[in-house]
Amino acid sequence: MERELNEKCAVVGIFNHPEASKLAYFSLHSLQHRGQEACGISSADGKKVHTIKDRGLVSQVFNDQKLTTLKGSSAIGHNRYSTAGDDSILDAQPVFARYDLGEMAIVHNGNLTNAQEVRDRLIKKGAIFQTFMDTENLIHLIAKSEEHKLLDRIVDAVKKIQGAYSLVFLSRTKMFAMRDPHGLRPLSLGKVGDGYIVASETCAFDLVGAKYIRDVEPGELLVFEKGKEPTSIKIFEPTPKHCIFEYVYFARPDSDVFGKNVYQMRKNMGKELAKIDPVEADMVIPVPDGGVPAALGYAQESGIPYEMGIMRNHYIGRTFIEPTQEMRDLKVKMKLSPINSLIKGKRLIVIDDSIVRGTTSKRIVKMLKEAGAAEVHMRISSPPTTDPCYYGIDTPDKENLLAANMSNKEMCKFMGADSLAYLTHDALLQSVQSENDEYCTACFTGEYLF
Ligand code: 5GP
Ligand code: SF4
Ligand code: MG
Repeated sequence: MERELNEKCAVVGIFNHPEASKLAYFSLHSLQHRGQEACGISSADGKKVHTIKDRGLVSQVFNDQKLTTLKGSSAIGHNRYSTAGDDSILDAQPVFARYDLGEMAIVHNGNLTNAQEVRDRLIKKGAIFQTFMDTENLIHLIAKSEEHKLLDRIVDAVKKIQGAYSLVFLSRTKMFAMRDPHGLRPLSLGKVGDGYIVASETCAFDLVGAKYIRDVEPGELLVFEKGKEPTSIKIFEPTPKHCIFEYVYFARPDSDVFGKNVYQMRKNMGKELAKIDPVEADMVIPVPDGGVPAALGYAQESGIPYEMGIMRNHYIGRTFIEPTQEMRDLKVKMKLSPINSLIKGKRLIVIDDSIVRGTTSKRIVKMLKEAGAAEVHMRISSPPTTDPCYYGIDTPDKENLLAANMSNKEMCKFMGADSLAYLTHDALLQSVQSENDEYCTACFTGEYLF
């Protein structure tokens, strides 16, 4: 794989609503946690597809004036997650194209695993690519398909791609939503006014007053046409393998993802974690914000009091975003600070959702010890992240994953903690009430789907 550029991200689609682009804007705003690097909206007014996209947060890129130029009763939108050193304006979405059937725009969350193969084949046949995005493959596949209707061309195109995709397509008059056969990334369907909404997470529905109907099924294509109920076409037999990391870290706690509430799942993880290597301590404190629900669950299960021992400055982005190590170190410092008087002399159980490179944990242990903590016991509410994700979560290469390169003892020493324990794989599955092996856990096991 050359570059993985469609990491994480959020997608939204609004169909048949007089304020379509505004609803897309608000939806993207509520999905900002899924990507902060760039965003964009395309709208369709029956005659044309209009697109605005740029680097920056949703509230920075859009204003009233811009939204009024995004005319029409349907709109799709995208938030893009950052990756190091890319030309993010070219790589922002929606991807727009004119082709023989008219105009279309596409938004994509996920990662295509055969992108390079497909691209090489297309280039051999004369296609010219403008970006490094795997989503551009879809534009070419659709433009080159010999079918006469966009619907058939979309079907043709998705049969040639492999990987994780939650996609929304917009033409001048129609909208299409599609999820890969594994349903790796989330995508939910709702009703808003007389129209419909699809979005990566249901927190978008709550904000715009939409009513959740159901998830788009793995392998399902939904067709939205004026004056009709959405039509469902089963393109692939569903073989669910939902990304369990959405529950661990990525999705917003107020969202229901894969049919279950994220906050509740995280709390369950904390409860399960409390049963593993218990220690005596004075308080349980979360690494905010990711560790909060699990720390509450841990405190309830263990009976050890919960305290907000670390404050978070909300006015900076996520630390993961910065590509260099120095910037990451500095940003952790800027972001989190201890309540010294609370912590001094205390034995702490510190809960975080995951360890990736280990920057956060190391910094936190140091910070808490400097604040006078007597003991710091790190507890992580997911199993060791030992393998990179190829399906749309931006984890680094194996050589940079702490747990891939050190034993538990070594990691504990590296971060200067008094003890370190992780949730087990089984306990994670139990926390999310898994019944049919319906989750991908490859970043914890190295057992990839493809
Ligand atoms: P580390 O500092 O170990 O590299 O990263 C761990 C921290 O990053 C945790 O606090 C966790 O909440 C957060 N985190 C875990 N996975 C991801 C991810 O894929 N992306 C981002 N932005 N943060 C992550
Ligand atoms: Fe999610 Fe991990 Fe699977 Fe990637 S490898 S889809 S992060 S569970
Ligand atoms: Mg965190």
